[in-house]
Amino acid sequence: MIFINPDSRTNKDIPNLAVAYAATLYRSRVVDLNTMPDPGNRFYDEKENDYVLSVQSRNYGHAQKIKEGILLKRPDASVRTLKGILDIQCCYPFVTFDETLNIDTPFSDDLPFPDYSLFDSFKIFLAKWQSGDWYYPLMTSIGCPFKCTYCMSRCRVYKTRSVDNCFNELREAQVTWGIKKFCIMDDCFNLKKGRVLEFAAKVRPLGLEWICSNGLRADLFDEEIADAIRASGCRYLSFGVETASDRILERIQKGETLAQIAKAVSIAKPRFDAVNGFFIFGLPEATPEDDIESLCFILKHGINAHLSVYVPFDKGIQKDAIFNKASSEAVLDNNSSLPSNRVLRWAERIGIRESSLPVIFKYTCRLVFLAKYRPSLLPQQFLTIAKMVYAKNLSSN
Ligand code: SF4
Repeated sequence: MIFINPDSRTNKDIPNLAVAYAATLYRSRVVDLNTMPDPGNRFYDEKENDYVLSVQSRNYGHAQKIKEGILLKRPDASVRTLKGILDIQCCYPFVTFDETLNIDTPFSDDLPFPDYSLFDSFKIFLAKWQSGDWYYPLMTSIGCPFKCTYCMSRCRVYKTRSVDNCFNELREAQVTWGIKKFCIMDDCFNLKKGRVLEFAAKVRPLGLEWICSNGLRADLFDEEIADAIRASGCRYLSFGVETASDRILERIQKGETLAQIAKAVSIAKPRFDAVNGFFIFGLPEATPEDDIESLCFILKHGINAHLSVYVPFDKGIQKDAIFNKASSEAVLDNNSSLPSNRVLRWAERIGIRESSLPVIFKYTCRLVFLAKYRPSLLPQQFLTIAKMVYAKNLSSN
């Protein structure tokens, strides 16, 4: 059996954890087309005739092409998709099509530590972990009981590994592979305060630098947690802010207020090298003014910002992934009369591809923001955008 991790064209520095656990359980190799995309057809050279694809919504198209390619060359091959262990990584759901390889081992201390040396991209990871350029990924828990309506991780059973088990994985990775830094990959790392404090105290002696790249809950963050994780090596953390509007926070069932978020940011700012906020533009019922307020919040608090554009759960793979889940009980924002869905239909009508919308939206917001708050920077920004459009036209001719 051989596992294939298709190219999702993002998170090249983060291994696919579901496939890492599965490959470790089966002692099978992984063709990792995400971190090492070339040569893109190297899986044809495998002697194996039993392929298992690890599919996420973000690499669904590539996974289907791989399957078609394999079956064209080897009509008698078995091509399955992986199901089990993890259902989501970095907010992207793992999905399946047709035949599946089901793994029942629950997320717990029963799992072996992932053996990344089974990846054919391992040399890349090893060099980057040893140089400290990339973070070793550590999943200490999965699931989240909150109901944020835009989030694929919501309403999922919360499962943990013990702090000792996590510590042992880190120590082994430090001794065996010489990792310098690690990154917490949990959906909701600070759900249980006692567990966070225990983890911080346990990993401190390892002397590793670490970060919380996924958003922490601002309402569950306080000085005690901040001091403890900083002292144990955490240098950088993120909050899921989403919007600077209390009205929209309520609408998306975030369960937090802007005041709580601002307080968490003010606790974190002086203690950490950098604080990041995740924001979503175009949330249901959000107006352009609401999104401008989010930009103002970013500037006012001097935080890094990760900006996304809201995509309703009403399209292809996301729809499948959501509606096949019995645990998803929260209200979905898939009403086609919502403003953001109307924008999608309008864009389709005038020939703008959906994939171009985030970029268009990003630059429109930037221009509106500059017009309102930094008009002197507008000419420079126009020039930059004009150059980009010109370069894109040249490359597409
Ligand atoms: S708290 Fe975070 S992980 Fe949980 S549902 Fe909300 S956004 Fe998703």
